[in-house]
Amino acid sequence: MATIYADRVEGLACRCCQGHIATFKVEKDGLRCLWCSTKITCRTPVEFVIKGACACTPEPDRTTFVVDTDGVKTCTRCGTVR
Ligand SMILES: [Zn+2]
Ligand SMILES: [Zn+2]
Repeated sequence: MATIYADRVEGLACRCCQGHIATFKVEKDGLRCLWCSTKITCRTPVEFVIKGACACTPEPDRTTFVVDTDGVKTCTRCGTVR
């Protein structure tokens, strides 16, 4: 399960890895993967993290979405907002 810290979020899905193991650094206007530097634009701070399906991966529950204070979900693999 993902863990949210003030400066980073651990346990997220990313294109650079299998499973939900990536660590993303929290920036003013989004999150950046520490391993591959992929930038996801979203509002911070992250309120919580959910697993789910996205067009970027064919299998259900294979990606994670960060949810901001307004309930906007952003896929951490591709940055799609829904
Ligand atoms: Zn990555
Ligand atoms: Zn996605």
